[in-house]
Amino acid sequence: MYEAKAYCAASASAPLAPARITRRDPAGHDVRLEILYCGICHSDVHQVRNEWSSIMPTVYPCIPGHEIVGRVTAVGSQVTRFTPGDLAAVGCLVDSDGVCAQCQAGLEQFCPDLTLTYNSPDRHLGGVTYGGYSDSIVVPERFALRVPGNLDLAGTAPLLCAGITTYSPMRRWQVGAGSKVGVVGLGGLGHMGVKFAHALGAHVVVFTTSPGKQQDAVRLGADEVVISSDANRMRSHAGSFDFILDTVAASHDINAYLNLLRRDGTLTLVGAPQEPLAVSAFGLLMRRRNLSGSLIGGLAETQEMLDFCSTHGITADVEVIPIQKVNEAYERLLRSDVRYRFSIDMASLRLE
Ligand code: NAP
Ligand code: ZN
Repeated sequence: MYEAKAYCAASASAPLAPARITRRDPAGHDVRLEILYCGICHSDVHQVRNEWSSIMPTVYPCIPGHEIVGRVTAVGSQVTRFTPGDLAAVGCLVDSDGVCAQCQAGLEQFCPDLTLTYNSPDRHLGGVTYGGYSDSIVVPERFALRVPGNLDLAGTAPLLCAGITTYSPMRRWQVGAGSKVGVVGLGGLGHMGVKFAHALGAHVVVFTTSPGKQQDAVRLGADEVVISSDANRMRSHAGSFDFILDTVAASHDINAYLNLLRRDGTLTLVGAPQEPLAVSAFGLLMRRRNLSGSLIGGLAETQEMLDFCSTHGITADVEVIPIQKVNEAYERLLRSDVRYRFSIDMASLRLE
């Protein structure tokens, strides 16, 4: 075991603060990464503040962070895919049983014995796992992804959650040339959704509550931008979408978006608001519409997404911050004031 630096929340109402934590030494199939960048996902805010208490109560101290890019500094004796000095990335998963039907299907995110990167029982040290707001992390090599050499590293970190969470449902619902795709909410997930839908050849419409994001939406790849409070513009799109990705982190009216789907169209929720969303049965019945959900993505698909980003030159648009600004960043995230993902430069933690 060794001591690592981190930022942790001591309770649901406490700001994140510096801490020293214990990590295991890399053994067997483990790799240890020096973390270079870690993205700030809205899920970090939900969990630090225990907003998902009914589904996955937060255990304190909580060290969030599941958008990790780093450099391998040590490997266990059985590691074959990485050597010290390699770049590697870690997303939301750090272990699974590897044998169940979900794992066999490459859908490790649905394994019943899954270990999440943070706030999951730690099968090595007891307590819970600690995430990427830290100077290092140790994971089995199966959960470390290859980072393509041509991508900016600060902008690559958010691909490990915001990227795969938006890429996976678009593949699942066969977004491609000729698809009309809506992206609801232009935040961390939403802006990646726009980039992917555009790269896949779709006609992309962004729905935003923030008039100030319109120009950015077009720059990111949107063909049209609709301010969601504009009832006329909303009505003009009724019954026309093949697929809509809803990334909103707070309570909102999803029926307004269900009504925009064509027959057999699909709305996929990836946003995870604390409160249940009300669904009008008729919104679904009328055109045999589908309402679905999606959770990050499996390991193979995450690697596929990284390789897709390499081919298409896609990374997240990031505002790089020192870790000392993390609490301010959380407040800005809650005000939808991020263009479009915060990425923590972990050199700032090493200097502390
Ligand atoms: P984010 O950066 O805060 O983006 C969310 C966006 O939603 C905001 O930028 C804003 O966009 C819009 N929005 C916020 N409040 C709203 C409201 N009251 N009404 C309507 N729109 C509102 O968050 P994120 O990191 O992208 O995460 C989004 C959600 O996805 C979170 O709930 C997160 O926990 C969840 N998530 C799920 C998965 C999964 O696997 N399913 C993975 C990661 C994250 P505009 O300014 O454009 O309106
Ligand atoms: Zn996330």
